[in-house]
Amino acid sequence: MRYISTRGGIEPISFKQAVMMGLARDGGLLLPERLPSIDRTKLESWRNLPYQYLAREVLELFIDDIDRLDLEVLVENSYASFRHPQVTPIRKVGDLFILELFHGPTLAFKDVALQLLGNLFEYQLKESGSFMNIIGATSGDTGSAAIYGVRGKKGINIFILHPHGRTSRIQALQMTTVLDENVFNIAIRGTFDDGQAIVKELFGDLEFKDQYHLGAINSINWARVLAQVVYYVYAYIKLWRNGMDSVDFSVPTGNFGDIFAGYVAKHLLPEGCINRLILATNENDILSRFVNQGDYSKSTVRPTFSPSMDIQIASNFERYLYYLRGEDPEQVRRDMETFARDGRLDFSGLRDQVARDFVSRRVSEEETIETIADVHREHGYLLDPHTAVGVRAARELGGERPVVCLATAHPAKFGDAVKKAIGTEPELPPPLADLESRESRCEILDADTEKVRNFIREHALRG
Ligand SMILES: *Cc1c(COP(=O)(O)O)cnc(C)c1O
Repeated sequence: MRYISTRGGIEPISFKQAVMMGLARDGGLLLPERLPSIDRTKLESWRNLPYQYLAREVLELFIDDIDRLDLEVLVENSYASFRHPQVTPIRKVGDLFILELFHGPTLAFKDVALQLLGNLFEYQLKESGSFMNIIGATSGDTGSAAIYGVRGKKGINIFILHPHGRTSRIQALQMTTVLDENVFNIAIRGTFDDGQAIVKELFGDLEFKDQYHLGAINSINWARVLAQVVYYVYAYIKLWRNGMDSVDFSVPTGNFGDIFAGYVAKHLLPEGCINRLILATNENDILSRFVNQGDYSKSTVRPTFSPSMDIQIASNFERYLYYLRGEDPEQVRRDMETFARDGRLDFSGLRDQVARDFVSRRVSEEETIETIADVHREHGYLLDPHTAVGVRAARELGGERPVVCLATAHPAKFGDAVKKAIGTEPELPPPLADLESRESRCEILDADTEKVRNFIREHALRG
């Protein structure tokens, strides 16, 4: 399988090259040359596979430059860190099926992708005898999943900037209590935007970037999307084994990565297996407006109870745009230029086509809290606020088919919202319970690019 850019400006590359490239050199996003699909006989042969084996089968449809046995070991290692034998188990809660994606080391669904990406990086760096310094800024959540993805890995150092005193205490401790030698937490005296601006400046310094082999771990890496395709297939097969032939998925959406994985899974499985993809947003609703009105336009970010979905521009949207535009990279490039210039794109003429792929609902703050309270009262099951957004959309838009709701975080990670809904904070599960008593390490620096650059120079891996 070769990979191309949504903007058509690169020669096709292999999967391993795509992992290392991250963002395509022409500014586009990488996609497989064609989306693979399987027939009923193949599906039948996957019927009883445990998660790890199914993952290898799915990944192999997209990867032809990693040896089969090596891939098996990579997958095995990536999901050994999960606390549930089924990796992503399903719970029946009332009429809905909750796909629990939060059994990884940081209790959020990003672990599913970042555990694999960390192992892929290590594998490829070992093969090429090279090294990498990963730099990223986080407002709280992605940072810890990235750190757990690469902690202790050879050939990789990771530097994560977070805003000092502006994340939740748990979020900060989840990062700073990782004491591996290759992990460097930098608390910036400033905001998340200050941290992000510093990271951008460092990546913009090409000499520095090349000398230190700077790498990113953000959600545009194709390997992250690919890892997420697996649990859609896994969930579908489980329901299908129980007599359900066609199902809907409801996905709490921010950067469009998770639901795009659902789009790929829908094309991968035989026609009709995945019926509808429900795109659920919080009050930052650019994607709901896109689906319902054809209006893709920026507005200002509003902080909500589901902070990991507080986005202004969905970084993976361009992948879907490529298919919406009939795989025409010229058109995608023009669209992205228009969006950069005007901050909006009008898709009202393509609404019927979009409606074949997605339905969408915006869920308000009150509805989010209400849904956590309702589901807890009715079924004794506790949702985190992100998952609650998806569950609410499923309740409003669900049809006659079973709906699988993706549960993207453990409720204990968002204790404030849960407390607002049910009056008490959820109990911290084992990986978080003793965080306060653990040793931590963190460098506190001014929001000054030179100071960060010097710190990285002192601690970076080099050739
Ligand atoms: C990142 C995240 C999301 C949004 O996923 P996207 O792939 O960005 O759409 C939803 N919920 C949680 C808890 C997250 O961390």
